Amino acid sequence: AGDSKDYDREVDSVCPYCGVGCQIKFKIKDDKIKYVEGIDGPANENRLCVKGRFGFDYINHPHRLTKPLIRRDDAPAKGLNVDPGNLMTHFREASWDEALDFAAGGLAKLRAQKGSYVAGFGSAKCSNEEAYLFQKLIRQGFGHNNVDHCTRLCHASSVSALIENVGSGAVTATFNEIENADVAIVIGANPIENHPVAATYFKQFTKRGGKLIVMDPRGVGLGRFATHRLQFEAGGDVSMLNAFMHVIVEEGLYDADYIAQFTENWEAMKEHLKGYSPEAMAETCGLDPEELRAAARTFAAGKAGMIFWGMGVSQHIHGTDNARCLIALALMTGNVGKPGAGLHPLRGQNNVQGASDAGLIPMFLPDYQSVMDDGVRSAFTKVWESEDFSNEKGLTVVEIMHAIHDDAIKGMYILGENPAMSDPDVDHARDALAKLEHLVVQDIFLTETANYADVILPSSAWYEKSGTVTNTNRQVQMGRPVAPAPGEAKEDWWIEVELAKRLGLDWTYTHPKEVFAEMKLNMGSLNNITWDRLEKTAVTYPSLTPEDPGQAIVFGDGFPRAEGRARFAPAKVISPDETPDADYPFVLITGRQLEHWHTGSMTRRSKVLDAVEPEANCSLHPKTLRQLGVEPGGYLRLSTRRGSVTVMARADRAVAENNVFLPFAYVEAAANILTNAALDPYGKIPEFKFSAVKVEKADAP
Ligand code: SF4
Repeated sequence: AGDSKDYDREVDSVCPYCGVGCQIKFKIKDDKIKYVEGIDGPANENRLCVKGRFGFDYINHPHRLTKPLIRRDDAPAKGLNVDPGNLMTHFREASWDEALDFAAGGLAKLRAQKGSYVAGFGSAKCSNEEAYLFQKLIRQGFGHNNVDHCTRLCHASSVSALIENVGSGAVTATFNEIENADVAIVIGANPIENHPVAATYFKQFTKRGGKLIVMDPRGVGLGRFATHRLQFEAGGDVSMLNAFMHVIVEEGLYDADYIAQFTENWEAMKEHLKGYSPEAMAETCGLDPEELRAAARTFAAGKAGMIFWGMGVSQHIHGTDNARCLIALALMTGNVGKPGAGLHPLRGQNNVQGASDAGLIPMFLPDYQSVMDDGVRSAFTKVWESEDFSNEKGLTVVEIMHAIHDDAIKGMYILGENPAMSDPDVDHARDALAKLEHLVVQDIFLTETANYADVILPSSAWYEKSGTVTNTNRQVQMGRPVAPAPGEAKEDWWIEVELAKRLGLDWTYTHPKEVFAEMKLNMGSLNNITWDRLEKTAVTYPSLTPEDPGQAIVFGDGFPRAEGRARFAPAKVISPDETPDADYPFVLITGRQLEHWHTGSMTRRSKVLDAVEPEANCSLHPKTLRQLGVEPGGYLRLSTRRGSVTVMARADRAVAENNVFLPFAYVEAAANILTNAALDPYGKIPEFKFSAVKVEKADAP
């Protein structure tokens, strides 16, 4: 911090990292951020975590892209082989006109051959307006729905289950509603590291006497505050949750009135649960039946309960089944639509909620309106003044990589995503990117994905642009430019518009507010929310009147489904796609850590954050390390059927003895070299949370 002499202006905006969406006051001197302070946003009430407070200096890193680049004719073969400090071995600088003509020309050439040869990945780190424009560009410009983004790698399975059974893909209550709860479950999430400001509300809840039930294969930090800690076997979640609900049914602890008034399929659910007693499930979920029964009684006894979940729930081939169980648990205990109650998948990226709402999804147009519905498409093409486009669902993230290998996709436009780090079985994804005939990458750094680009379009960081963003709470907030973009870098919406024009589209937007106004025409969720309102204050959707700050809790009087009823969806136990065996005896779980963000492109270029966590690391139980003959700080080789990485070992009693935890932010030991690309059949999300792995002592790399 500093005093008033330290800065010459202040700007209020939103944190670019996690889905909590903390509001921040930036103190700026000579167009550089000097320091920041948390302000009184609806989600953070002045609080910030280490990323929001110290993670802003990446925008000044010398590796920022400042000019458009085109791959040199004499560049070496495509691969992960470009030195970010010396790009000219592979690329040459170009004017914006030349780069945009080249980018659009390559995509148009493939469109002329066969419209569906092109696919696009938009970004959950861009604004709502930029996400909307991206999906519009693919649909209007190429006539199909091959457009997706990182929700496919995080909460697609949660959204799938929520839409199926509740009728809406967003949270039913803000996380701050925990203030009114007396019981809460946090499952498959590590909020102290991944949603740190939300975690402060969870801790305060326990200090007030709220009963917290933490369920995770790893002993996550919130466990210290828990009334019940259920450290179940990795992959045993559906069995545990079915057993949990079995107790509630068997002991008559359910809310019969709520079930009768607001739900359907209850009898089938009750019948299904008969076979899942805690005793019958003890082996598959690894929990003492009495411990599980006690936790179930605690949850059912609460007057108002919330359920929070993260990637540990969603990133499985049974991710949708996991979410179905959590929805069923909330419904049977009457814990939706009242103060202190609700379902809350903790969204990861700062705008993954908004990007999904804006239609950056291959099966949905904005507001989760099906691409298969003729009336829906016609409402959009009327506004867009364009022809109809495909009524078939497009390909998802991992499916697009397979389609490239099958020659069904030959060109891509990738904005702010990094599949060369984030995709499962990433060598397969990298080979796919290398195979593309034309790859347009728009980003702020030479990401691993940009290594494979034919043309790179330098864009603005979040701190350098205008646009709205929607957090995990459904709160729409205004992002404001804090500093100028470096060199010739441009705002993403401007680049999208210029590309669209060169693809023959009649786009005339001159400011994101014009895009927002267009979005409102077909997005009922934005009713009563205007750009001018957002300039003054955050608004939660749905907002019922022009003055309504928005509904923190929804579905108190029924659900947006047939007859207003939510549905119980019984879920059977299925095995992970790959189970440990003699060759690969451990379970690999990947995830994040507090200081690093996703593929590390921002936080590893932030001095403070990288200084705290500078090296790729994995965590194992100390007993396991002893058995392997490795001291903490020594090195391990982790191998799966897809590849190997060598990484520094840490001892952590929170990790189960047969598990390995590996963060995925480090390119030098890329976790996704190891992960399995098997998909959940509904959400099409990969099984990042369970791979069979071999662990051996190794020398330092
Ligand atoms: Fe940013 Fe999330 Fe930390 Fe808030 S909790 S400061 S939004 S990273």
